[in-house]
Amino acid sequence: MNLIAYALFLIAGLSVAAWLRRNPHDGQFLNQFPTAWVGFVCFMGLLFYVPTLRADRAAAQAGRVVSILIGQKVVYTCASAVNVFFDRSTDSAMGYVRFDADGQPEKKSKLRYDLCRGLVDFLANPNDLTHDRQEKIFAVHAVTHEARHMIGERNEAAADCQAVQRDAQTAKGFGASEDTARQLALAYYQTIYPTHPYFSSECKKGGALDENLPSSPWNLH
Ligand SMILES: [Zn+2]
Repeated sequence: MNLIAYALFLIAGLSVAAWLRRNPHDGQFLNQFPTAWVGFVCFMGLLFYVPTLRADRAAAQAGRVVSILIGQKVVYTCASAVNVFFDRSTDSAMGYVRFDADGQPEKKSKLRYDLCRGLVDFLANPNDLTHDRQEKIFAVHAVTHEARHMIGERNEAAADCQAVQRDAQTAKGFGASEDTARQLALAYYQTIYPTHPYFSSECKKGGALDENLPSSPWNLH
Protein backbone atom coordinates (compact mmCIF):
# COMPACT_ATOMS: atom_id res chain seq x y z
CA MET A 1 0.00 0.00 0.00
CA ASN A 2 2.60 2.54 0.97
CA LEU A 3 4.68 1.66 -2.10
CA ILE A 4 1.84 2.97 -4.26
CA ALA A 5 1.68 6.10 -2.11
CA TYR A 6 5.42 6.66 -2.44
CA ALA A 7 5.22 6.14 -6.22
CA LEU A 8 2.44 8.73 -6.44
CA PHE A 9 4.38 11.24 -4.32
CA LEU A 10 7.38 10.64 -6.58
CA ILE A 11 5.30 11.34 -9.68
CA ALA A 12 4.07 14.57 -8.06
CA GLY A 13 7.66 15.55 -7.22
CA LEU A 14 8.87 14.77 -10.74
CA SER A 15 6.03 16.82 -12.19
CA VAL A 16 7.05 19.80 -10.05
CA ALA A 17 10.71 19.29 -11.02
CA ALA A 18 9.76 19.18 -14.69
CA TRP A 19 7.81 22.42 -14.27
CA LEU A 20 10.78 24.09 -12.55
CA ARG A 21 12.99 23.16 -15.49
CA ARG A 22 10.43 24.37 -18.04
CA ASN A 23 11.51 26.23 -21.11
CA PRO A 24 9.92 29.70 -21.16
CA HIS A 25 9.63 29.45 -24.97
CA ASP A 26 7.36 26.39 -24.80
CA GLY A 27 4.23 28.48 -24.78
CA GLN A 28 1.63 29.69 -22.34
CA PHE A 29 0.10 26.32 -21.40
CA LEU A 30 3.34 24.61 -20.42
CA ASN A 31 4.42 27.56 -18.32
CA GLN A 32 1.50 27.25 -15.98
CA PHE A 33 2.05 25.26 -12.81
CA PRO A 34 0.16 21.94 -13.16
CA THR A 35 -1.90 22.56 -10.02
CA ALA A 36 -4.76 20.21 -10.86
CA TRP A 37 -2.45 17.35 -11.85
CA VAL A 38 -0.09 17.68 -8.86
CA GLY A 39 -3.04 18.14 -6.53
CA PHE A 40 -4.75 15.05 -7.91
CA VAL A 41 -1.64 12.87 -7.65
CA CYS A 42 -0.93 14.07 -4.07
CA PHE A 43 -4.55 13.44 -3.10
CA MET A 44 -4.38 9.90 -4.45
CA GLY A 45 -1.06 9.40 -2.68
CA LEU A 46 -2.60 10.47 0.63
CA LEU A 47 -5.54 8.18 0.03
CA PHE A 48 -3.17 5.24 -0.19
CA TYR A 49 -0.98 6.47 2.66
CA VAL A 50 -3.68 6.99 5.32
CA PRO A 51 -4.24 3.27 6.09
CA THR A 52 -0.48 2.85 6.53
CA LEU A 53 -0.40 5.86 8.79
CA ARG A 54 -3.22 4.45 10.94
CA ALA A 55 -1.49 1.06 11.13
CA ASP A 56 1.79 2.68 12.15
CA ARG A 57 0.07 4.67 14.87
CA ALA A 58 -1.65 1.51 16.16
CA ALA A 59 1.70 -0.31 16.22
CA ALA A 60 3.28 2.57 18.13
CA GLN A 61 0.47 2.47 20.69
CA ALA A 62 0.89 -1.31 21.05
CA GLY A 63 4.59 -0.71 21.76
CA ARG A 64 3.83 1.86 24.46
CA VAL A 65 1.21 -0.31 26.18
CA VAL A 66 3.22 -3.55 26.07
CA SER A 67 6.44 -1.82 27.20
CA ILE A 68 4.64 -0.78 30.38
CA LEU A 69 3.12 -4.25 30.89
CA ILE A 70 6.41 -6.13 30.55
CA GLY A 71 8.70 -3.43 31.97
CA GLN A 72 10.92 -3.33 28.89
CA LYS A 73 11.00 -1.06 25.89
CA VAL A 74 9.66 -2.93 22.88
CA VAL A 75 8.59 -1.78 19.46
CA TYR A 76 6.03 -3.08 16.99
CA THR A 77 5.89 -2.28 13.31
CA CYS A 78 3.29 -3.11 10.73
CA ALA A 79 4.28 -4.82 7.51
CA SER A 80 2.90 -3.31 4.33
CA ALA A 81 0.22 -5.00 2.28
CA VAL A 82 2.89 -6.07 -0.19
CA ASN A 83 4.53 -8.17 2.54
CA VAL A 84 1.44 -10.36 2.74
CA PHE A 85 2.41 -11.71 -0.68
CA PHE A 86 6.18 -11.57 -0.58
CA ASP A 87 7.25 -11.98 3.05
CA ARG A 88 6.34 -15.60 3.69
CA SER A 89 9.59 -16.72 5.31
CA THR A 90 8.65 -15.74 8.85
CA ASP A 91 8.01 -18.01 11.80
CA SER A 92 4.28 -17.47 11.74
CA ALA A 93 1.66 -15.87 9.59
CA MET A 94 0.83 -13.21 12.15
CA GLY A 95 4.04 -11.72 13.43
CA TYR A 96 7.60 -12.54 14.26
CA VAL A 97 10.57 -11.61 16.39
CA ARG A 98 14.14 -12.28 15.31
CA PHE A 99 16.74 -13.80 17.63
CA ASP A 100 20.44 -13.02 17.18
CA ALA A 101 23.31 -15.52 17.08
CA ASP A 102 23.58 -15.43 20.90
CA GLY A 103 19.93 -16.35 21.24
CA GLN A 104 18.92 -12.86 22.31
CA PRO A 105 15.62 -11.57 20.94
CA GLU A 106 15.30 -8.30 19.14
CA LYS A 107 13.10 -5.87 21.05
CA LYS A 108 10.99 -5.30 18.00
CA SER A 109 8.32 -7.30 16.31
CA LYS A 110 6.82 -7.05 12.88
CA LEU A 111 3.10 -7.67 12.60
CA ARG A 112 1.32 -8.71 9.46
CA TYR A 113 -0.60 -6.07 7.54
CA ASP A 114 -4.00 -7.69 8.02
CA LEU A 115 -3.31 -8.22 11.70
CA CYS A 116 -2.56 -4.53 12.06
CA ARG A 117 -5.94 -3.78 10.54
CA GLY A 118 -7.53 -5.77 13.38
CA LEU A 119 -5.40 -3.79 15.83
CA VAL A 120 -6.48 -0.47 14.29
CA ASP A 121 -10.13 -1.55 14.56
CA PHE A 122 -9.77 -2.68 18.16
CA LEU A 123 -8.00 0.50 19.26
CA ALA A 124 -10.65 2.62 17.55
CA ASN A 125 -13.28 1.12 19.85
CA PRO A 126 -11.80 -1.25 22.43
CA ASN A 127 -15.17 -2.24 23.85
CA ASP A 128 -16.75 -3.36 20.61
CA LEU A 129 -16.24 -7.06 20.06
CA THR A 130 -19.32 -7.34 17.86
CA HIS A 131 -17.78 -6.16 14.61
CA ASP A 132 -14.75 -7.99 13.20
CA ARG A 133 -14.59 -9.93 16.46
CA GLN A 134 -12.16 -12.59 15.27
CA GLU A 135 -9.73 -10.06 13.76
CA LYS A 136 -9.67 -8.02 16.96
CA ILE A 137 -9.13 -11.06 19.19
CA PHE A 138 -6.31 -12.27 16.94
CA ALA A 139 -4.69 -8.84 16.92
CA VAL A 140 -4.63 -8.45 20.71
CA HIS A 141 -3.43 -12.01 21.17
CA ALA A 142 -0.67 -11.73 18.55
CA VAL A 143 0.64 -8.52 20.15
CA THR A 144 0.70 -10.31 23.51
CA HIS A 145 2.30 -13.43 21.99
CA GLU A 146 5.11 -11.51 20.25
CA ALA A 147 5.88 -9.73 23.52
CA ARG A 148 6.70 -13.11 25.08
CA HIS A 149 9.27 -13.72 22.34
CA MET A 150 10.72 -10.25 22.87
CA ILE A 151 11.38 -11.02 26.52
CA GLY A 152 13.19 -14.19 25.48
CA GLU A 153 10.71 -17.08 25.17
CA ARG A 154 11.55 -19.08 22.05
CA ASN A 155 9.19 -21.98 22.52
CA GLU A 156 5.95 -21.31 20.65
CA ALA A 157 3.65 -23.38 22.87
CA ALA A 158 5.07 -21.75 26.01
CA ALA A 159 4.89 -18.26 24.48
CA ASP A 160 1.30 -18.81 23.45
CA CYS A 161 0.20 -20.08 26.84
CA GLN A 162 1.93 -17.12 28.48
CA ALA A 163 0.02 -14.88 26.06
CA VAL A 164 -3.25 -16.67 26.80
CA GLN A 165 -2.74 -15.67 30.42
CA ARG A 166 -2.03 -12.02 29.54
CA ASP A 167 -4.51 -11.24 26.75
CA ALA A 168 -6.86 -9.58 29.24
CA GLN A 169 -4.01 -7.35 30.50
CA THR A 170 -3.17 -6.25 26.95
CA ALA A 171 -6.81 -5.59 26.11
CA LYS A 172 -7.18 -3.44 29.24
CA GLY A 173 -3.97 -1.61 28.38
CA PHE A 174 -5.57 -0.81 25.02
CA GLY A 175 -8.56 0.72 26.78
CA ALA A 176 -10.97 -2.21 27.06
CA SER A 177 -13.18 -2.50 30.12
CA GLU A 178 -12.67 -5.27 32.64
CA ASP A 179 -15.62 -7.15 31.12
CA THR A 180 -14.50 -6.80 27.48
CA ALA A 181 -10.95 -7.82 28.39
CA ARG A 182 -12.34 -10.89 30.13
CA GLN A 183 -14.58 -11.76 27.16
CA LEU A 184 -11.70 -11.39 24.72
CA ALA A 185 -9.29 -13.55 26.75
CA LEU A 186 -11.93 -16.26 27.26
CA ALA A 187 -12.93 -16.18 23.58
CA TYR A 188 -9.36 -16.84 22.49
CA TYR A 189 -8.79 -19.54 25.10
CA GLN A 190 -12.08 -21.36 24.62
CA THR A 191 -12.73 -21.07 20.89
CA ILE A 192 -9.44 -20.46 19.06
CA TYR A 193 -6.75 -21.93 21.27
CA PRO A 194 -7.96 -25.60 21.36
CA THR A 195 -7.34 -26.03 17.62
CA HIS A 196 -4.33 -23.71 17.35
CA PRO A 197 -0.96 -25.22 16.30
CA TYR A 198 0.59 -23.81 19.51
CA PHE A 199 -1.99 -25.50 21.75
CA SER A 200 -0.64 -27.24 24.82
CA SER A 201 -2.70 -29.52 27.07
CA GLU A 202 -0.61 -28.14 29.95
CA CYS A 203 -2.12 -24.68 29.43
CA LYS A 204 -4.88 -25.04 32.01
CA LYS A 205 -5.53 -24.60 35.69
CA GLY A 206 -2.88 -26.60 37.53
CA GLY A 207 -1.08 -27.46 34.25
CA ALA A 208 2.68 -27.17 33.87
CA LEU A 209 2.27 -23.84 32.05
CA ASP A 210 -0.18 -22.34 34.57
CA GLU A 211 1.30 -19.15 36.02
CA ASN A 212 -1.83 -18.67 38.10
CA LEU A 213 -2.11 -14.99 37.16
CA PRO A 214 -5.27 -13.06 38.00
CA SER A 215 -5.61 -12.65 34.22
CA SER A 216 -5.23 -16.38 33.44
CA PRO A 217 -8.48 -17.38 31.69
CA TRP A 218 -9.29 -20.03 34.31
CA ASN A 219 -9.17 -17.26 36.94
CA LEU A 220 -11.41 -14.90 34.99
CA HIS A 221 -14.77 -16.55 35.58
ZN1 LIG B 1 5.51 -17.04 18.08
